[in-house]
Amino acid sequence: MKAIVVHPGERDTIHMRDVPDPRLAADQVAVKVVRLGLCATDAEINHGSYGEAPHGSEFLILGHENFGVIEDVGKKVKAFKPGDRVVSTVRRPCGVCDNCRHGENDMCSSGRYTERGILRRHGFMAEYYVESPQWLFKIPRAIEELGVLLEPMSVVQKAIDHAYGIQRRLRWNPRTALLLGAGPMGLLAAAVLRVRGLEAHVVGREPASDRRAELARKIGATYHAVADEPLLDLQRELPPIDLAIEATGAASVVFQAMQMLGRNGILCLLSVTAGGESATEPIAQINHRLVLNSNVVFGSVNANLRHFSMGIRDMVATQKKYPGVLAQLITERLPWDQYRSWFSRRGAGIKTVLELPS
Ligand code: BGC
Repeated sequence: MKAIVVHPGERDTIHMRDVPDPRLAADQVAVKVVRLGLCATDAEINHGSYGEAPHGSEFLILGHENFGVIEDVGKKVKAFKPGDRVVSTVRRPCGVCDNCRHGENDMCSSGRYTERGILRRHGFMAEYYVESPQWLFKIPRAIEELGVLLEPMSVVQKAIDHAYGIQRRLRWNPRTALLLGAGPMGLLAAAVLRVRGLEAHVVGREPASDRRAELARKIGATYHAVADEPLLDLQRELPPIDLAIEATGAASVVFQAMQMLGRNGILCLLSVTAGGESATEPIAQINHRLVLNSNVVFGSVNANLRHFSMGIRDMVATQKKYPGVLAQLITERLPWDQYRSWFSRRGAGIKTVLELPS
């Protein structure tokens, strides 16, 4: 079969090649890939700054944001049948640490986990993949078009779930949210928090006429263009922020984000920044604020099965409350053999997806 592969650690090696067809075991399902989402992590892997090939392989099949249809099921599989629409999770447990052994493989403490399409395990940019049913989620027909957004949605769900979990340290009834970055993560988070009834402020680099701003408004969030106004100045216009999520992909925003929280507020950092950037920051002032406001700053990555379920539930809820809006996050659909055009320019769209032939 055909697959899109890279040589991790080397720059711009992405190419399509023939790879052996995956073999279906009795306790696995075979999935025909329908659609793939592209994200900054894919670009970083192709850039050579992140990712690892599976042990013994000189290449990595790329791709972790996925949506497909079950083509075949092994003899022992009962829970799925051909034709089911599915999304696969990304991370697989290390098998030894306590978190992985209890289903919390997104919190693996040995670091020996693998991630499909990212770290030491082939991904989904291929005509087919095989997988054990325990890692798959059936996608209801009502949100079939949104299936390819479930993986990034699961990452957002984990961030919010952990923020609420950490805030059990006090009596917390968040009313205001600040989403830094108007990409898929920021906008998905805004939608989820709006459904929960929070006042949401989305901050992006794009002007207020951009479609990101328009989408933010459609889900009842307020959009702020930082090109018009530096982030720290914006604070004067905002109410005290209870929950902030940093998802700009820019390391330089992180320390400013720490200064945007209200009393008892919490900031979740979601950007994977593999670069070597450094900067000078007003550390005494930042520390003073964090301490006197009893703030929390935490990092979050990946998601476990629970967060994928929560993602499906919230996609259904968002679809009901704001019909058709989440689908507008997909701003570009490319036939999968045109993958190169995204990797070479990355455009101004929100989410690009690759469509495989049916
Ligand atoms: C993926 C996560 C993954 C992370 C780090 C992100 O792009 O969505 O599933 O854990 O990269 O590898």
